[in-house]
Amino acid sequence: MNDDTRVVEIAGAGPAGLAAAITLAHAGRPVIVHEARSEVGYRFQRDLQGLENWTGARDALDSLRELGIMPECKWIPCRQGTAFDAWGQPYGIHSHEPLFYMVERGSGPDTLDTALLRQATGLGVEVRFDSRLRRVQGPGIFATGPKAADAIAVGYHFDTSMGDGFWVICDDNIAPRGYAYLLVMGGRGTVKSCMFSGFKQEAVYVKRTVEAFQRLVGLEMIDTRAHGGIGNFRVPATARSGRHAVAGEQAGFQDTLWGFGIRAALVSGVLAACSLLEDSDYDRLWRQALGEVMATATVNRALYELLGNRGYRWLLRWQQRQPDARALLHRCYRPSRLKRLLVPLARRRLHSQRKDESCNHVNCSCVWCQHGGEPHT
Ligand SMILES: Cc1cc2nc3c(=O)[nH]c(=O)nc-3n(C[C@H](O)[C@H](O)[C@H](O)COP(=O)(O)OP(=O)(O)OC[C@H]3O[C@@H](n4cnc5c(N)ncnc54)[C@H](O)[C@@H]3O)c2cc1C
Repeated sequence: MNDDTRVVEIAGAGPAGLAAAITLAHAGRPVIVHEARSEVGYRFQRDLQGLENWTGARDALDSLRELGIMPECKWIPCRQGTAFDAWGQPYGIHSHEPLFYMVERGSGPDTLDTALLRQATGLGVEVRFDSRLRRVQGPGIFATGPKAADAIAVGYHFDTSMGDGFWVICDDNIAPRGYAYLLVMGGRGTVKSCMFSGFKQEAVYVKRTVEAFQRLVGLEMIDTRAHGGIGNFRVPATARSGRHAVAGEQAGFQDTLWGFGIRAALVSGVLAACSLLEDSDYDRLWRQALGEVMATATVNRALYELLGNRGYRWLLRWQQRQPDARALLHRCYRPSRLKRLLVPLARRRLHSQRKDESCNHVNCSCVWCQHGGEPHT
């Protein structure tokens, strides 16, 4: 631990920025978090999301608690769900341990963001809202969320009388190269098409997503609100901007296969703070903790994109025969000699796909084209 007592300024009160602030405050460092919006989690508007529990061998919540992050929010452990192929055939998803923890995002009383904010301010962190940080003179961390759209998730939030649960559809006609999903927790739901291509046609895919879930599981939506957002992922060459560490999605830290970024955001925030406290090499820290899993996820994505609807069907059938979905996914995210060999190829392939030719930017109001404007969702 170094004996620097200067105030650390953090840009962004998302999971990455608040995890960094909590870690610094635990060590007694004064911290100011600047948040551009008037509240935490503004871009999520009470979205339901999953804190994934498969990339690490240990339980995600236990690992976070060990790092000093206490997500004391409302969550449900998700062990059982249903996936559908493009022909409407259902496949059970079963896991002994939670596959993910469903959480709410945004500024409500029970959300993950509010829980992190509560922990940070309880430790003496000052959070300044409506404060967009553009430059940091002294010690600082940038955690400002995505800066490009590699994928978009678009659909609706709603109230419902449906029971808690999760449902997924793998069908390129509904969510190109991605998946459509439905999450329900405590009488509230989110239904989205998470697409990795075809952004220009987002309205068509959202319509098909809703119709498919109505047909397959009797989706019931009351008081429907449109919602969408972007996802940014890459394994960066460095996660530093000048002298400052960059954490969370701003650095590209996110699961490239399916777009789960909360866990990587929290972990990278903690590591960014540790590197500042210990004067250690942040790039070395995140590479050790996240590098291999992210590289493997990049290969997983490149392979997934080759599958198409028949391939997804094969994958779903195969997973249904496995005894435990979490163990299976954990294995898929472990590096192997073959996957290490495929990393450069996968990176090249995904890099070339960033420029989605299906969107020509003419008179376009899609989530992807709008993301560059301030404020983005
Ligand atoms: C629709 C959707 C669904 C998702 N579902 C899941 C899921 O199920 N599971 C999962 O793990 N991940 C999911 N993700 C991804 C996940 O939400 C993000 O990866 C995660 O929130 C990233 O955290 P972060 O702290 O890096 O950035 P953010 O959560 O985006 O926080 C960044 C903060 O910085 C603020 N900010 C920006 N610029 C400045 C500035 N200059 N100064 C001050 N503040 C600034 C922003 O207002 C924002 O509050 C989803 C994303 C979307 C869009």
